Amino acid sequence: MRKKVEYLIVGQGLAGTFLAFQLLSRNISFAVVDNSRPNTASKVAAGLINPVALRRLIPSWRAQEFLNYNIDFYTQLGAVLGGKKYHHKIAFKKLIESKDERLFWEKKMASGEVDGWVEPSFSIMTKSMRPKKDFKLGAVKQCYWLNVKQLLEDFCVFLKANGLLLDEKFEYASIDEKVFSDVKFKKVVFCEGIGIKNNPYFNYLPYRINKGELLTVTSMNYRSECAMKKKMFVLPLGNNRYKIGATYAWEWEDEKPEEKSKSLLKDSLKEITQAEFDIENHEAGFRPAVKDRRPLIGAHPEHKDLFLFNGMGSRGCLIAPKLAKELVDHIENRTPLTPETDIRRYEKLSKIQSLKQ
Ligand SMILES: Cc1cc2nc3c(=O)[nH]c(=O)nc-3n(C[C@H](O)[C@H](O)[C@H](O)COP(=O)(O)OP(=O)(O)OC[C@H]3O[C@@H](n4cnc5c(N)ncnc54)[C@H](O)[C@@H]3O)c2cc1C
Repeated sequence: MRKKVEYLIVGQGLAGTFLAFQLLSRNISFAVVDNSRPNTASKVAAGLINPVALRRLIPSWRAQEFLNYNIDFYTQLGAVLGGKKYHHKIAFKKLIESKDERLFWEKKMASGEVDGWVEPSFSIMTKSMRPKKDFKLGAVKQCYWLNVKQLLEDFCVFLKANGLLLDEKFEYASIDEKVFSDVKFKKVVFCEGIGIKNNPYFNYLPYRINKGELLTVTSMNYRSECAMKKKMFVLPLGNNRYKIGATYAWEWEDEKPEEKSKSLLKDSLKEITQAEFDIENHEAGFRPAVKDRRPLIGAHPEHKDLFLFNGMGSRGCLIAPKLAKELVDHIENRTPLTPETDIRRYEKLSKIQSLKQ
């Protein structure tokens, strides 16, 4: 028998997962379609939540609002998935090397501007980290680690157990009849990450694809429970394992992890510590980045039953939970989206595309 749902969600990365959870919490029917691609942004994401833009030393966009929302959100999501905890508070420190950078931090710390975001004084690296130099450490407050991999896997199991997941590639032609596989739907929300490039309804939007690479390493003589960052971050995973990343490249050879990125990541690590590391894994993924560095959310300008939830950039773990709520509030209750996230800001581009067709 054909199943009837209110929403079809295309994509079960972070965006699709959080959107599905918003619908579940409101008892609104849905099904999720995902074609299980291996190197999606969410599958490789380190899960670091750092709410401070370190170069300018200011909170990132809407940081406090997102952090506040996430505490209950991730707790409730964990409860539905069997009382699990995915969202962990961590210590995170920026390594400060140059005199200019030190003076900049000291000025900001003394001004009170970064109270609540940065500790008021520096610390130093412990011997157990085998520091390369005598770095000063600036501690960023309110940082978290999200166990993205486990969260997505558990949510996938939950969806399958409840008959809500179609392990298939979505066919855009199914929109005419509003039937895909054995599911009849009323609305579609596209949460396709870089899959947006194949989407004939939304690929007019000004996204660019960015490649990111990470290493997972083990070390028997580097010891730290604190995440560190110089050019790249070193994130402790437990059991002497660490994630090193992430690169941010606008040009690349192919989808695979590249030797030159591996060298870059290894060199960045050697700038921090003299400890020895073995490389366990090297991964690559792709993020859709938006010109104005704001997400792409909202209804298609002409097809009012088609919606987009994309453009989470490099802070998906921080921003996506509340933005998923805002999209569902918008569709269900007509609550306006904030203009800086609403894809209506690019309406002129959609008109140009219609003229071309
Ligand atoms: C190397 C790297 C490290 C990162 N580290 C962090 C980090 O530490 N902290 C942080 O907050 N963010 C991080 N990010 C960013 C974060 O990964 C993204 O913001 C987030 O994962 C985007 O999620 P998404 O659901 O929008 O897209 P995706 O993860 O790309 O998910 C899209 C899903 O849609 C599916 N799909 C697409 N098209 C179709 C179709 N036609 N039919 C069926 N299924 C389809 C895909 O298979 C995929 O599962 C990192 C990104 C990269 C690349």
